[in-house]
Amino acid sequence: MTWVPLNDLSRALTAQKPELERAVSDVIDSGWLVQGPAHRAFEEELAEYLGVRHVIGVGNGTDALEIALRTVLPEGRTTAVTAANCGAYTSVAARNAGLRVRYADVDAATHLLDPAALESVLDDEVGVVVVTHLYGRAADVAAVRAVCEPRGIRVLEDCAQAIGARTDAGLVGGLADVGTFSFYPTKNLGALGDGGAVVTNDDDLAERVRATRQYGWQGKYTITVPGGRNSRLDEVQAAVLRHRLTLVDEANKQRRTVIARYAAAASDRIRVLPADGPHHVGHLAVVETESAPDLIAHLTAREVRTDVHYPVPDHRQPAFAAEYADVVLPVTEGLVGRIVSLPCFPELTGDEIEQVCDALASY
Ligand SMILES: *Cc1c(COP(=O)(O)O)cnc(C)c1O
Repeated sequence: MTWVPLNDLSRALTAQKPELERAVSDVIDSGWLVQGPAHRAFEEELAEYLGVRHVIGVGNGTDALEIALRTVLPEGRTTAVTAANCGAYTSVAARNAGLRVRYADVDAATHLLDPAALESVLDDEVGVVVVTHLYGRAADVAAVRAVCEPRGIRVLEDCAQAIGARTDAGLVGGLADVGTFSFYPTKNLGALGDGGAVVTNDDDLAERVRATRQYGWQGKYTITVPGGRNSRLDEVQAAVLRHRLTLVDEANKQRRTVIARYAAAASDRIRVLPADGPHHVGHLAVVETESAPDLIAHLTAREVRTDVHYPVPDHRQPAFAAEYADVVLPVTEGLVGRIVSLPCFPELTGDEIEQVCDALASY
């Protein structure tokens, strides 16, 4: 028996090495290093894939969130609302954008933002709700919009974990006012380093996002949009992402297959969160169980690597906890110590999947 890794990026890198080397070499030949032809082509190809009007490449997923939050926030509103179990990226971005952050509880079955709980924390200070397609599962954006739109609240989809997730209304990213993506190497569409994007169907919003990612420039060197940044997606990353975008649907399917195998094998002390259709892209294989430490010890003894996404809810993060001492989120807090992430990536071998399944079955 050998260890089953949680993720192993070297396998895809090795398999794709000729194409990746060609992509990098083409960038060198082009003489463009930022915002050149590869970047332009990637923005267009991702827009077409997602079925949205605009894709704006940025430096990473957290910048995408921060820029989108700044840009979409209606005049006079101060506050963003989100779930507290999504790794705190939105909290960090919103705080950096000068927003206050409020949390709503999640649904016990899906671990996604609960539209009913959301309604109870909304008032006229709230300008934007961030709905995260957590673990790769498309959230019910229509239900969130139905609660938000009558109150003039904008909706942002955080799609960092869910590129390619399909709903009846289209792919995630184009279902609300604005969407954000991360191309961090472990995401389903990963670069050779950092990368991100903001996507929208709103022409005016797109123009302001485009200015904000580059100092607030309308053009060189005139600043028309306040709150500008420098957050660009470079040509090498764009070229790599163009190639990998052609592989993402097949890779997403393989991830779903891995999770389905786990679900079929697991003992009745483990609930595998299902990834049972194109609305889920299998970013993370998350299970719920009575005692996460106990299951982790069992899996570790069988040489299966695990992780927890995420161990500390946002409102209990040491840096912000003092502001949220009175906030109680029963479902979110109830998941602490009860969730475990299993190995899940497209290049897992049959033997490795079987080793994980055996370990899940014997628990
Ligand atoms: C990874 C991730 C981000 C942040 O992306 P970076 O590119 O690492 O900044 C944001 N939201 C979610 C849900 C993520 O998984």
